[in-house]
Amino acid sequence: MAIQTLIRSEFDNLLFRHASKCGATVFNNTRVTENQLEGERPVSADWRNTSTGTQGRISCSYLVDASGRNGIMSTKYLKNKRYNRALNNVACWGY
Ligand SMILES: Cc1cc2nc3c(=O)[nH]c(=O)nc-3n(C[C@H](O)[C@H](O)[C@H](O)COP(=O)(O)OP(=O)(O)OC[C@H]3O[C@@H](n4cnc5c(N)ncnc54)[C@H](O)[C@@H]3O)c2cc1C
Repeated sequence: MAIQTLIRSEFDNLLFRHASKCGATVFNNTRVTENQLEGERPVSADWRNTSTGTQGRISCSYLVDASGRNGIMSTKYLKNKRYNRALNNVACWGY
């Protein structure tokens, strides 16, 4: 049986570049620092480039929060993150 390994950083980079090729405007090394909301609806986001320190604000009609476990919208703004206690578990790993 052959075991295939995937280098996560390479795979992420491939998807990132592909999104760009497909026409998405992509930002690298850029953190969202704040979101501005009208009611519960996000209308813009403040960002900061962690390499250059450049900052700015981008407006949006829709926002997809893909910040993973950070869950910026649910944790910081909507405060509606709920943990399922039945799925509590522990994982150990090593590199
Ligand atoms: C050690 C480890 C091993 C794993 N192994 C496997 C495995 O073998 N197979 C498997 O299927 N799953 C595995 N997982 C789980 C898998 O990695 C996650 O389920 C998956 O990555 C979640 O995808 P996501 O897009 O929701 O979040 P993520 O992949 O975490 O992506 C979130 C992104 O948002 C960015 N981000 C966060 N906050 C901000 C911010 N303020 N501004 C801008 N960007 C921000 C982060 O930098 C990141 O790039 C593993 C997880 C860990 C921790």
